[in-house]
Amino acid sequence: MLVYANRVSLPARYYVYVALQACKRQDPENKLGYKMAIAYITHHDCQLHDMGPGHPEQPARLSAINNRMIASGLEVVMQQYDAPLAKRGQLEAVHDPDYIDRIFTSTPAQGLAWIDADTAMNRCSLDAALRAAGAVVLGVDLVMQGKAKQVFCAVRPPGHHAERRRAMGFCLFNNIAVGAYHAINHYGLERVAIVDFDVHHGNGTEDIVAGDERILFCSTFQHPFYPYTGSGSRATNVVNTPLAAGSNGTDFRQAVTSQWLPRLEQFAPELMLISAGFDAHQADDMAGLNLVDSDYAWVTRKLCEQADMSAQSRIVSSLEGGYELHALARSVEAHINAFLGDDLFERSQAVLTALDS
Ligand SMILES: [Zn+2]
Repeated sequence: MLVYANRVSLPARYYVYVALQACKRQDPENKLGYKMAIAYITHHDCQLHDMGPGHPEQPARLSAINNRMIASGLEVVMQQYDAPLAKRGQLEAVHDPDYIDRIFTSTPAQGLAWIDADTAMNRCSLDAALRAAGAVVLGVDLVMQGKAKQVFCAVRPPGHHAERRRAMGFCLFNNIAVGAYHAINHYGLERVAIVDFDVHHGNGTEDIVAGDERILFCSTFQHPFYPYTGSGSRATNVVNTPLAAGSNGTDFRQAVTSQWLPRLEQFAPELMLISAGFDAHQADDMAGLNLVDSDYAWVTRKLCEQADMSAQSRIVSSLEGGYELHALARSVEAHINAFLGDDLFERSQAVLTALDS
């Protein structure tokens, strides 16, 4: 800790202190050490998936997040895990065998193989995609086995546009759906919530889970906007919350409060999964919503409150979009920081603001 404290800033050192106190509180007997509460899963393979120069879904996204975890001090208080490769059977719970075969056989010897207009594979993409899905599976294992309370999967490619039989929108396998069905099939859970605050509608997740009442899927998204879905769903287990271009944090919070939270409370999930996309940030020019870092902290706290009530605090969050690297890294920090708890979160924010000014 002393070595660490000497190479990080004063705010980060205070942050570490606050986070350690939060870990103590979440695990009062400290049976598993300070790092018990929050797990962080990533893998170097996820940075080797590269769709070419200028593609917004780029390896630097993970570098930016990983660097922010170190600079903020959060790295010290999280358990670190390497993402395993998802197993074929885990993928088959959400994707057709023929589709999985197609992805497994599309790896090019060199260069890029384009799977759809904006989604390509290089020679490392298959392993990256298997680790992205495998990360969520491991996250589910950790929270279900009491080895962590909350998990963040810093992985790519993202997954929420991948449908049962189709890759699209930078996504190959639907990582969050793979995790949801692992929780259902392996642990026998009867109610799993998937919430998705990416700026794009999670069409792939809806395609996979619509009509399965064991899953409640809530999605906010800019509409009309890519992938131009989400306005006509009739599935009773899907809560689609379109937001007009230009909507800000106030609009987002009102929509979540009026549409997501009552359904989540009624559903009482045993596990909360988050498709955590940060491309609705006002600094992100991928789309036209105007969220800021604190909106991500707010929605995360609301989801924590629900998870505390019905899910033994179990949350597994997995990275989806977010393309402006600074806003992405800060927003992920705000998201994970919010796992620490209301009082400590607010205290640390107040102190950090004072130290920064
Ligand atoms: Zn997105």
